[in-house]
Amino acid sequence: MRTSLVVLGGGPGGYAAAFLAADQGLDVVLVDAEQQLGGTCLLRGCIPSKSLLHLARVMGEVGQLADDWGVDYGSPQIDLERIRNHQQELIARLSGGLQQLAKRREVRVIQARGCFQDSHTLQLDSADTSLGEDRLLEFDHCILATGSRPACPPGLAVDSPRVMDSRTALELAEIPERLLIIGGGYIGLELGTVYARLGSQVSVAELTSGLLPGVDRDLVKVLQRQLESLFTAPLMLETRVDAIEDVGSHLQVSMTGPDGPLDQQFDRALIAVGRTPASADLGLENTQVVLDDRGFVVTDEQQRTADAAILAVGDVSGEPMLAHHASFQAKRAIRALQGTENEPATELVPAIVFTDPEIAWVGLTQTAAREQQRKVRPAVYPWAASGRAQALGRTDGLTRWLVDPETDRLVGCGIVGAGAGDLIAEAVLAIERGCHVQDVAELIHPHPTLSETLGGAAEVYLGTATEVYKPRR
Ligand code: FAD
Repeated sequence: MRTSLVVLGGGPGGYAAAFLAADQGLDVVLVDAEQQLGGTCLLRGCIPSKSLLHLARVMGEVGQLADDWGVDYGSPQIDLERIRNHQQELIARLSGGLQQLAKRREVRVIQARGCFQDSHTLQLDSADTSLGEDRLLEFDHCILATGSRPACPPGLAVDSPRVMDSRTALELAEIPERLLIIGGGYIGLELGTVYARLGSQVSVAELTSGLLPGVDRDLVKVLQRQLESLFTAPLMLETRVDAIEDVGSHLQVSMTGPDGPLDQQFDRALIAVGRTPASADLGLENTQVVLDDRGFVVTDEQQRTADAAILAVGDVSGEPMLAHHASFQAKRAIRALQGTENEPATELVPAIVFTDPEIAWVGLTQTAAREQQRKVRPAVYPWAASGRAQALGRTDGLTRWLVDPETDRLVGCGIVGAGAGDLIAEAVLAIERGCHVQDVAELIHPHPTLSETLGGAAEVYLGTATEVYKPRR
């Protein structure tokens, strides 16, 4: 079988590339090893985790109603089977939608694991007889979009259902009484939030001295306060998990903390220490594609690899490993294939941690500004000053712009608070368009909404915020 373009991997990078290419009139085959389209994001990542986090948030809000408003629904009755069914229906609906979109665009979808024989041929392990005896797929170009998989330190690779990764944790086999989250990154904290709301006692062990390494501390501090009441406190920071043993009735976990060795028992553990590119076992050694020392496919600004026939997008081609970044790169890859040179890629990739409260940021961070010795002025609006936050009982938040003091240009934004993820888009647009702090201060934000905190933070910078008192000098 022969095609002009094959896309290997049907996640947000792969299906976006395949659909855009088909819209441009290319003959496209989309190959994915899974039965359903959608990749990690839809099948075992963004969508199922956000659906469960929605449930967790509602459960938290119902608890808050009882505590703060005196409206008590009693203790939740949890039917895990129905939660699991709901998740499967959601995934099937979205994945079915992608199949329909592929069909209407005449993108041929093949369920198979692909392995490169050379720069223009993939060997497919499909049972599909229409592919011919040899199951070879020849192509002019290939877009590699094989994504990533959960990383596991070799010492912690224990073959036990009690030891989970993000994929098995999302299957919700049970609600363990005691759950250890290994890794205080976004995946661990998001899934820890879900399990804690469903009733687990959640402990976190994080190797570094703070949760969410790399995220600005003023934002993390607000989240950490909430997690300390949701999870089993204290959070175990500067703690290395050395070994896990399944002793039948529970897991015996050996750790080393700041005060020395620590042995604890848990019913389940979730290893969430990061993700690794899915670039092994693809036969890339039969092509000219080059990998870096972490296994990411090396690409240029046009998403081209060192092999003229192969481009790469999404998690397999490097950080940030985010779905919207994968589909952004897919657009660039298709433009490059069509012979249009892309502008240098934007560095404005928004990131969100969907915990409760959420953390969202875009552009320059305080951490990066310090590292680059770049002068910036923060302008912070505390959510306690927001009428909307007060009405929601969610004053645990802040909105903070970073402003270049020489030009008054907005260069970064960080928000922590309920629904922060939905607020960050205004900051993306403002920074991308080169707005000055005055531009946002002069916008009319609707009242009472949390979006006012973006205008409020800009006014704090200018000294014109009315709800935040600033003593006269
Ligand atoms: P993937 O989505 O990983 O898709 C790759 C596809 O390639 C898979 O379907 C796989 O089966 C297929 N494949 C691999 N090898 C082969 C082969 N040899 N042959 C055929 N097919 C192959 N990102 C966000 O932006 N927001 C979030 O809220 C978010 N939440 C997440 C939560 C969790 C729990 C996890 C695990 C991830 C989350 N992510 C989130 C990250 C996001 O899922 C990834 O960044 C995104 O899926 C990457 O897209 P991709 O197209 O590069 O690859």
